[in-house]
Amino acid sequence: NREIHLTSRPNGLPVPENFGLIETNVSSDDGDVLLKNIYMSVDPAMRPPLTNGQTKLDEPMMGGAIGKVLHSSNPDHAVGSYVIHRAGFREYHVSDSSDLRTITLQDEPLSTHLHVLGGTGLTAYGGLLVTGELKDSENVFVSAAAGAVGSVVCQIAKIKGCRVAGSCGSQEKVDYLLNELGIDYAFNYKTQDIRKSLREGLPNGIDVYFENVGGEHLDAACGQMRPLGRIPVCGMISAYNNKGARSEGVTTLSNMIYNRVTMKGFVVYEFEHLREQFLTDMRKWIAAGQMKYSETIMQGIEQAPAALIGLLKGENTGKMLVQLSED
Ligand code: NDP
Repeated sequence: NREIHLTSRPNGLPVPENFGLIETNVSSDDGDVLLKNIYMSVDPAMRPPLTNGQTKLDEPMMGGAIGKVLHSSNPDHAVGSYVIHRAGFREYHVSDSSDLRTITLQDEPLSTHLHVLGGTGLTAYGGLLVTGELKDSENVFVSAAAGAVGSVVCQIAKIKGCRVAGSCGSQEKVDYLLNELGIDYAFNYKTQDIRKSLREGLPNGIDVYFENVGGEHLDAACGQMRPLGRIPVCGMISAYNNKGARSEGVTTLSNMIYNRVTMKGFVVYEFEHLREQFLTDMRKWIAAGQMKYSETIMQGIEQAPAALIGLLKGENTGKMLVQLSED
């Protein structure tokens, strides 16, 4: 078994030298179930724990993964079945079963259960429809729009008949958002002024800003919120490499008063009760061609640090994954 350990704490953007590839032995005698990991998820939320101490030095890193059961003494987890769990960043995992959830595959590729039919999809669904209280035909702004969460948010908003503007970090992503996902307006925040772009893309203002980025994005969007607008706060990736994950200053918060804007944070776990409805809706939308997805897949456990660094630099379109095994 090979696994990724954090060997030193990054200062700013992580570098490959912060991580080590360590060989260990695993034995199915140590638990109920021995898994071989097939895909692992690479998520922005992994960055702050590298600095704040939640990720321990010289221990295997954690992260979402799909594993295939190789040995099992638990009748709930048959050999050959697929499970989702949090012990990614390693090739094999021995579990007492308490951390495993069975995946029931229909026609979809296995990997979709780590994004469009998994955690990032549910984040988008709950964050937009429940926390964001999206209504039909509203004006919606999505940051990190070409990423795993953002791309699903954009498409749900289009399904609900909304006008959708998205920001992203390259011209290729702008093209993807406009031509593949069919949103109404997209801009590259690295080359375009965010405030000006929002005024052009959403001239009537913003009803829902789905916040993935923080800092300058939040400053620009908050100043253009319409009366009774909502800002579901999903993440603030622009701050994750900063000490204490502190977001840059926002100067427009007073607009929340006069326009009675609501800003509310959420975590995906609070939408667990929606999972069945979410899967039904998403499968229906995928089959109808209304929900597309993209994956950026790196091969092999040794690529995991590069995948995490790449994600923080915007090298992914859609979901960043590492494939550890063919099957
Ligand atoms: P993405 O697939 O969106 O990947 C991250 C993207 O963020 C990159 O591709 C990059 O795209 C963009 N990015 C990186 N740095 C910056 C920056 N400084 N300014 C603007 N954009 C930047 O990741 P996810 O879909 O997994 O996550 C998106 C957000 O959702 C994150 O903030 C994450 O923490 C949050 N999240 C929250 C959850 C919750 O329960 N609340 C659950 C899951 C995710 P680009 O090329 O456009 O710059």
